[in-house]
Amino acid sequence: GKGLAVFTSGGDSQGMNAAVRSVVRMGIYLGCKVYFIREGYQGMVDGGDNIEEANWSSVSSIIHKGGTIIGSARCMDFIKREGRLSAAYNLVTRGITNLVVIGGDGSLTGANLFRQEWSSLLDELLQNNRITKDQREKYKFLHIAGMVGSIDNDFCGTDMTIGTDSALHRIIEAIDAIVSTAYSHQRTFIMEVMGRHCGFLAVFTALSTDATYNFICEEPAPPNWDKKLCEKIKEERKSGQRLNIIIVAEGAIDREGKPITAELVKKVVVENLQQDTRITVLGHVQRGGSPSAFDRILGCRMGAEAVMALMEATPETEPCVVTLDGNQAVRLPLMECVRRTKAVAQAMADKNWDLAVQLRGRS
Ligand code: ADP
Repeated sequence: GKGLAVFTSGGDSQGMNAAVRSVVRMGIYLGCKVYFIREGYQGMVDGGDNIEEANWSSVSSIIHKGGTIIGSARCMDFIKREGRLSAAYNLVTRGITNLVVIGGDGSLTGANLFRQEWSSLLDELLQNNRITKDQREKYKFLHIAGMVGSIDNDFCGTDMTIGTDSALHRIIEAIDAIVSTAYSHQRTFIMEVMGRHCGFLAVFTALSTDATYNFICEEPAPPNWDKKLCEKIKEERKSGQRLNIIIVAEGAIDREGKPITAELVKKVVVENLQQDTRITVLGHVQRGGSPSAFDRILGCRMGAEAVMALMEATPETEPCVVTLDGNQAVRLPLMECVRRTKAVAQAMADKNWDLAVQLRGRS
């Protein structure tokens, strides 16, 4: 059977295990020899025990677990050609020519580069007598399929990334818990949520928790945001509301591009309204805990589609990323989505927020 390997790279998210499980089982079902690569690109570069054949039961009892059982890492070695040469050696000598990468835009960019260089990497290995002519010929094509694991929902081309839904659940659970205590004391609660370049978590949290206000990066706060915020809080209190929730995304800014932090918001509320104000920073709690049903199913569907894409690939097939489009798992050109995602980040860096939102499109 064909050699196929799956790895997780970059930041972890809930639902990655469901995706890994699905790749392994779909691969085996279709007659592939399936491998795990542990610790992302580092395991690919280092080889040895990091690359291990998987069987049907090695992915039993993982679908409910957060994080990724095969480990994830950032890897400096893979940024250099020397590292990628070593990675190519480790794959070829195991007969692996199909890769499923689960990660963010950085990991997908690395995979695309690896594929572009594949031929020249094999040539170099052959010249150095590290692989045989037969191996050079037999494994001359590398196929890539990607999936995006990220709690931020920050990737262009997909309605949802794997982990976002679970992170939202975690956040609103925490807010619901806080609300019950805050309600007793008439407080204002400021909650910092993740999302450096994407306000999805903040906006969806605000909508599902009846928040008073939220700050994100795509819609920078106007110059008089402090007044507007205080007026809104006063108004709500006057109408009988006992507590206020304010959601601040990590990357929130004002129109000059200055950060709006939870501390700054607290200062505004305390100085203007003298209210009892508390900050909660959820941090990695958002990435933790078990994946929601949605993320488990999403990982399953995307994993199966990724394997199908690899099995149907011809030498001309470009690397794809499996995304969710209107409740369907579909294949899109990997680099086009990565380029769009990077263009959004650039537009935001250029303070062109309208363009950023327009480029991001539906997701
Ligand atoms: P994410 O995949 O979540 O965006 P990173 O940007 O940290 O996370 O990328 C994860 C890993 O992917 C990096 O540590 C590196 O090994 C690899 N990678 C990222 N960008 C590149 C690149 N341009 N060339 C080669 N490898 C890359």
